[in-house]
Amino acid sequence: MPRSSSRHDVIIAGAGGMGSAAAFHLARRFRNGGQRVLAIDAFEPPHEMGSSHGLTRIIRLAYHEDPSYVPLLRRAYELWRDLERASGQRVLTITGSLELGPPGSAAVADALASCHEHDIPHDVLSAREIMARFPAYRIPDDYAGLLQPDGGFLDPEGCIAAHLKLAQALGAELHTGERVVEWEPQGDGVRVRTDRGEYEAGRLIITAGAWLPKVAPRFAPVASPERNALAWFRPQRPDLFEPSAFPVFIFDDGDSGWFYGFPMHGLPGLKVGKHHHFREVVDPDTVDRTPRPQDEAALRRFAERYFPEGAGETLRLATCLYTNTPDGHFLIDRHPDCPQVIIGGGFSGHGYKFCSLVGEVLADLALDGKTRHDIHLFRAGRFSETSRSG
Ligand SMILES: Cc1cc2nc3c(=O)[nH]c(=O)nc-3n(C[C@H](O)[C@H](O)[C@H](O)COP(=O)(O)OP(=O)(O)OC[C@H]3O[C@@H](n4cnc5c(N)ncnc54)[C@H](O)[C@@H]3O)c2cc1C
Repeated sequence: MPRSSSRHDVIIAGAGGMGSAAAFHLARRFRNGGQRVLAIDAFEPPHEMGSSHGLTRIIRLAYHEDPSYVPLLRRAYELWRDLERASGQRVLTITGSLELGPPGSAAVADALASCHEHDIPHDVLSAREIMARFPAYRIPDDYAGLLQPDGGFLDPEGCIAAHLKLAQALGAELHTGERVVEWEPQGDGVRVRTDRGEYEAGRLIITAGAWLPKVAPRFAPVASPERNALAWFRPQRPDLFEPSAFPVFIFDDGDSGWFYGFPMHGLPGLKVGKHHHFREVVDPDTVDRTPRPQDEAALRRFAERYFPEGAGETLRLATCLYTNTPDGHFLIDRHPDCPQVIIGGGFSGHGYKFCSLVGEVLADLALDGKTRHDIHLFRAGRFSETSRSG
């Protein structure tokens, strides 16, 4: 049944991790102003088609990707705690976070650099110290790690549900099962067409995750969806993998790449994934979401090698999508050709922890055209290869 054309102050295309947070921040700011926000999603968030499912996401303050993320992370932590207060739900569990690897590992060295630059509490641990404190580990003697007490994990499905519920309670409209098909500037606003109707808005926020290249084709050359996989293995010694005994980790395994993992949460299993899994570029509309034996084998090999009491029967396998930019940094900016359109995408496999902050930033950009947060690293025009069409 087509919905009738109507006018909103801000439309959000995609109500997943980032879009649900933007809906909440906008609705909160609109509460007394009589303005209207409409979030549209092609599925029923939280769902398993995009990038924000699988029970846990790492959050950490020491940031090897670039120290300039740290002030944004401090604000993200504050906003996650705000969300917990507003919703009455626990979404953040602190376990500590461990980055570890062989001598010279960038995972450890760059996280340590961000600790020094931003005065972040941390401990540098030898392999022996890691195995003594966290007996689940069996690692080579020359490995070392950085333990950061503020690390932990978020509940991604819970965060989306909480953001959307609060946004709706504050007056935001949510349309699910409705796909944004196209949009065009109209005066200083936007016209948005979906598979169910047409809408006008003053501003459009595009937070379509792995579908960013389809909803904003201009970004197709710099936002590349990638298939990733996750596995949960039942530990033989569950006590070693409880959140109180086992910090979230990022594990540089030398030649075979970077893995990450979580204590048991939501399922009685050690959860592991490999960053950029098989580097498989995909189309989110046609990707094979069914886990394959090779997905399981790659993750099992890692778990058996380093967590000998953690890799029992496979409890669950899942696939999930990254959206990678060429430099691994986000795209958060006004659309270069159309400033009434704001983009939040390209989160390159490390964006979830920032959803709360990104929601605030997107609301700032939509309402004020600027934000007090330093988002210079994420400017849309930084890639010379960005095409001129779409
Ligand atoms: C396996 C895996 C592990 C990860 N681990 C971590 C981690 O430990 N820590 C961390 O910080 N980050 C992690 N990430 C990255 C993080 O999860 C993502 O950066 C984040 O979820 C991206 O959120 P998003 O809102 O951009 O995408 P999504 O949550 O997927 O939201 C996009 C939404 O847009 C909707 N949509 C798309 N097209 C349309 C359309 N045309 N019309 C309407 N709606 C549309 C979709 O249905 C979807 O709901 C991980 C990602 C994966 C896949």
